Amino acid sequence: MQIGKKRKWLLCTSGYGMIIKPMVRNNICLNSHPAGCEKAVQNQIDYVRQNLAKEKDQIIAKESAPAGSPALVLVIGCSTGYGLSSRIAAAFGYCAVTVGVSFEKAGSSAKPGTPGWYNNRCFDAEAKKANLVSKTLNGDAFSNEMKAEAVKAIRETAAIAGIPAKTDLIVYSLASPVRTDPLTGITHRSVIKPIGEAFSGNTLDIMNGAITAASVEPATEDEIANTIKVMGGEDWKLWLEALDREGILAPAARTVGYSYIGPEFSWPIYKNGTLGHAKKDLESAAAEITGGGKATAWVSVNKALVTRASAVIPIFPFYVSVLYKVMKEKGIHEGCIEQIVRLYTERLYTKESTSDPASVPVDSEGRIRIDDLEMQEDVQLETIRRMELITAENVNELTDIAGFRHDFMEAHGFDVGGIDYEAEIGR
Ligand code: NAD
Repeated sequence: MQIGKKRKWLLCTSGYGMIIKPMVRNNICLNSHPAGCEKAVQNQIDYVRQNLAKEKDQIIAKESAPAGSPALVLVIGCSTGYGLSSRIAAAFGYCAVTVGVSFEKAGSSAKPGTPGWYNNRCFDAEAKKANLVSKTLNGDAFSNEMKAEAVKAIRETAAIAGIPAKTDLIVYSLASPVRTDPLTGITHRSVIKPIGEAFSGNTLDIMNGAITAASVEPATEDEIANTIKVMGGEDWKLWLEALDREGILAPAARTVGYSYIGPEFSWPIYKNGTLGHAKKDLESAAAEITGGGKATAWVSVNKALVTRASAVIPIFPFYVSVLYKVMKEKGIHEGCIEQIVRLYTERLYTKESTSDPASVPVDSEGRIRIDDLEMQEDVQLETIRRMELITAENVNELTDIAGFRHDFMEAHGFDVGGIDYEAEIGR
């Protein structure tokens, strides 16, 4: 990956297309590369074909999909990260009809669109090539209008595929800084802050390896309540209610929302902070949905991974760069797609659990744990030991900052193998 001076990151235009170089500021990538995004989606599809469908031919895969595997899937937050992988695995692994909802921007003559825009475009094109039915909706998942659009899309796609309009898997994978409550019209903003006391920890600039101490002041009561409003379970329940009201929920419907717990040293900023409180609310929502008897809901606790949302969480890049190194050395590193294939094949849709939701392996609090490898004692002890030794001099040696940077770049379509980044491309 080329890392250069400011000028090198500029977007250059010439002729009819443009050459796009990454523009990164403070662990936020401001642009994306369409061809790289598309190639990264194709790589995930290939992984699923090899590891889940185990068939190159989607028609054969459809015939051999296990009985009880999902047939009509709604993914809320489908364009990037865990949601994108959940959709790819359901479609290309089980040949499910998929309706995806996300909030992305198309490109313009001045600027490429958001990565998710290109991911969705590629997903739909690849699904079509494989004779899979899919529909992607772009807009605010928190709104009543989007829920109505999704209901319509579920009916339409089911009709095209010739299957009953009964959604049997709903994946809730939103990561959003803001939500407008459709009932009150009030816009709430989420924050990532500790509660009670300030939190200090090291953070890592993934582009230049600089380590800086960062301190975050504790959240106010309002900030806690607003974060729960945005990232908690209220909207998940509203989605399930909307599908049920419209009669498009399958009798044995399953739904999963994603969460993170992480190591104890991060709890003040994550698990016991504002976001952790929102995730507790997500767990309560899962219990309420299951208790309502219309669907079985789980919270799945996933591994810490580099996605667009996660790179800006304080201490996260520092911890994850070391974690990646340790997990790669032990041969147990996974990305979003490996995590989701394991979620489906070893948790939600095993031979036993496909017909009996009570057989889905869960922890003592009823949560699915696919963060099990990250949380292994040997992994945690070694990660924490190394974190204490890291300095500016040894950061490249003791951490996998290069791997973190690669994943971060890849999430925006850069640094993807097989792409000519000097070539002009259309938008
Ligand atoms: P991400 O940023 O890659 O994806 C977020 C998705 O939400 C995108 O598809 C985006 O378009 C969509 N979205 C955001 N606001 C929206 C809106 N108003 N309307 C419609 N769509 C909207 O995030 P991610 O890291 O994959 O996180 C997904 C979930 O997984 C989150 O709940 C997160 O807490 C959880 N999780 C993430 C990690 C991690 O390390 N990344 C670990 C465990 C759990």
